[in-house]
Amino acid sequence: MITLLDENFSQLNQFMTEKSFSKVFILVDENTHEYCLPVLLGNLETDIAFEILEIEAGEEMKNIQTANQLWEILTEMRADRKALVINLGGGVITDMGGFVASTYKRGIQFINIPTTLLSMCDASIGGKTGIDLMHYKNMVGTFSFPEQIYVYPGFLNTLPAKELKSGFAEMLKHGLIADKKHWEDLIQLQHLDPVGVEPFIRKSMEIKQEVVNADFHEKNVRKTLNFGHTIGHAIESLCLESENLILHGEAVALGMICEAHLSYLEGLINKEDCEIITENIARYFSYIDITGFKEDKIFDLLLNDKKNTDAKINFSLLSGIGSCVFDHQCSTENIQKSINFYKNIS
Ligand code: NAD
Ligand code: ZN
Repeated sequence: MITLLDENFSQLNQFMTEKSFSKVFILVDENTHEYCLPVLLGNLETDIAFEILEIEAGEEMKNIQTANQLWEILTEMRADRKALVINLGGGVITDMGGFVASTYKRGIQFINIPTTLLSMCDASIGGKTGIDLMHYKNMVGTFSFPEQIYVYPGFLNTLPAKELKSGFAEMLKHGLIADKKHWEDLIQLQHLDPVGVEPFIRKSMEIKQEVVNADFHEKNVRKTLNFGHTIGHAIESLCLESENLILHGEAVALGMICEAHLSYLEGLINKEDCEIITENIARYFSYIDITGFKEDKIFDLLLNDKKNTDAKINFSLLSGIGSCVFDHQCSTENIQKSINFYKNIS
């Protein structure tokens, strides 16, 4: 269940009072330790003993070594089956903390308190937990739901602008795949800041939650959440390889421009909608130079995408602004054209 917290975190305090946890572990990274933990502790009214577990910030920490350290600490601190893990952070913390809690002693309870826009609208919702393996993202994980998700938009006040923008890409995606009004509301925003995006967070959370509820195991409609992510993930991986780090949302924004164009080339949306989408996404996200990436490298990655079946690339594409189709297979020529389209828009 998702709850928007009030200023005193009273819903969280009520939850903690009603449940009798033996011990509480709060997982943070160095930034959420500094910026978010004081706010949480300032509002938490509980007599239960708690411990702070801190990891370094960054995707590089989302691996088995960190998970192992956390399992060991839980063991040394005698966390039992009635312990609670509170994940206070962005998607790295909610993925990692959810994974550790859902596997420790075959599963202890955890709650998510997302602190980035991306984790509020996306990563903390949907029951997917996990860690990366070698260069592959989210290769090992569980489907496990947090007991509760508590959202406090006030945490966004300290979030770097680039990170806010990264989360905004997923919000735009929610509008494009499921709700035209949401998209239209979002593109009215002239500047991205916490005050501007706050009124729309709830809608994005609802869209993600509804899609997940309709298809938890990603057999059908949940696949629509992958719009922009097929080409986006391939470019994200290539940037990572070339040490030209881009944020996930920046890659998704690029992917959405390509895949909106692909939707047009495949006859699913009209030219006008395609242009509206391109212009608006390009207004928020600066151009990423991908001209140096070889086409065969991009196709290798597209062919390795987790969503593929029968060695065919499956795309989630738009069938209008606010509607999406999935498992759509496109001609190689159109895929190439859609990537070239992006290369030429600068
Ligand atoms: P993140 O957790 O790395 O956070 C981004 C940065 O912001 C970090 O440096 C963090 O320390 C800092 N930060 C967080 N909150 C802050 C705050 N309030 N003030 C100041 N700094 C703050 O990254 P993210 O973008 O939140 O999440 C990305 C991760 O989420 C990826 O690992 C991705 O795979 C995962 N993800 C998971 C799902 C899912 O369904 N499980 C969905 C989407 C993304
Ligand atoms: Zn995403």
